[in-house]
Amino acid sequence: MRRPMVAGNWKMNGTLQSVADLLNALKGEKLPENIDVAVFPSLPHLQLAQQIVQGSRIQLGAQDCAVQLEEGALTGETSAMQLRDVGCDLVLVGHSERRELQSEDDQVICRKFIAAQAAGLTPVLCVGETLAQREQGQAVSTVAAQVDAVIAGAGVQALADAVLAYEPVWAIGTGLTATPEQAQEVHAALREHIAGYDAEIAQQLRILYGGSVKAANAVELFTQKDIDGGLIGGASLKADEFGAICRAA
Ligand code: PEP
Repeated sequence: MRRPMVAGNWKMNGTLQSVADLLNALKGEKLPENIDVAVFPSLPHLQLAQQIVQGSRIQLGAQDCAVQLEEGALTGETSAMQLRDVGCDLVLVGHSERRELQSEDDQVICRKFIAAQAAGLTPVLCVGETLAQREQGQAVSTVAAQVDAVIAGAGVQALADAVLAYEPVWAIGTGLTATPEQAQEVHAALREHIAGYDAEIAQQLRILYGGSVKAANAVELFTQKDIDGGLIGGASLKADEFGAICRAA
């Protein structure tokens, strides 16, 4: 039985005040006992967020980490170790906005994945196809290759301490959501692909869906057999909406 997770990617949003307000409101939401709930604020807000979520059941994550674990002359970078030091439990790795805007390739993403685990963080590995790739019938082969690149560098065993998020690029922040059938098809294919390496790890791996999830479509997505919760962008910035999405998981 896989424990569902609902995670909120807050992206580059908020101020100290709005982050405090959002977290305090979220703490007031009724969150189901049988799921994991996590939020991923911006870097400058992590320490404040940590103080607010401390003692609650909300886990804390960062949106990115450096490839390098050790301290060093890397201006602007933040290591997984530093994220752990400020109380993070998780870190997003390979979000499509970083793949696209920061030109992060599979090798860089694999190194970040390895650095995250070495620091004791759980990486949430994001994979997804573009619209062009989907239209060419390459949705599954694209995401499978993105997972393969991490397995090639980190080993399949590393997926035992990770979470996977399927986020079709064309559905992120666009209001377009994959249908439950489209999402389930890719989730099942990913699980089957990983089972080719290790059946037990594939069975236990949580695969979240992300891409314009809202309270209104969460139930139909989360009731699919291979969808184990969601990675939520825009809708995670409202406590009542995010709370409702958590209750759908
Ligand atoms: C995301 O950025 O991870 C995401 C899923 O965004 P949205 O829910 O806004 O599509």
